[in-house]
Amino acid sequence: MTIALCFACGELKRGALCPCVACDAETDADERLAISYSDHYLSVDVLKRFGRVIADLRTAFPDASATERRLALDIFLYEHMPERFRPRQPKDASRMDRARAMLDAVELPKITRT
Ligand SMILES: [Zn+2]
Repeated sequence: MTIALCFACGELKRGALCPCVACDAETDADERLAISYSDHYLSVDVLKRFGRVIADLRTAFPDASATERRLALDIFLYEHMPERFRPRQPKDASRMDRARAMLDAVELPKITRT
């Protein structure tokens, strides 16, 4: 069974394209992205580290919208695996600045390739 990352809450879930049992979130609309962040491509340890970033962003910015947190996560993912993932660029450049500031406010783990 595939182990995959829930982008909504940061928990690991069974099945990249299944809803998360921890938070009920549906899988990401981008199926390729959802599968990229599974144990087909990344170690469970690395998936847990990405999950930690998601959880920390939720804790640090409870009032931020899910879209804002997601953009911050997208930037973090892109910086570590640019060949695998390119974030959607928001039309409003200030949203990128805010997402960057959100990332700067949380402790980011070292992500090493396996
Ligand atoms: Zn979840």
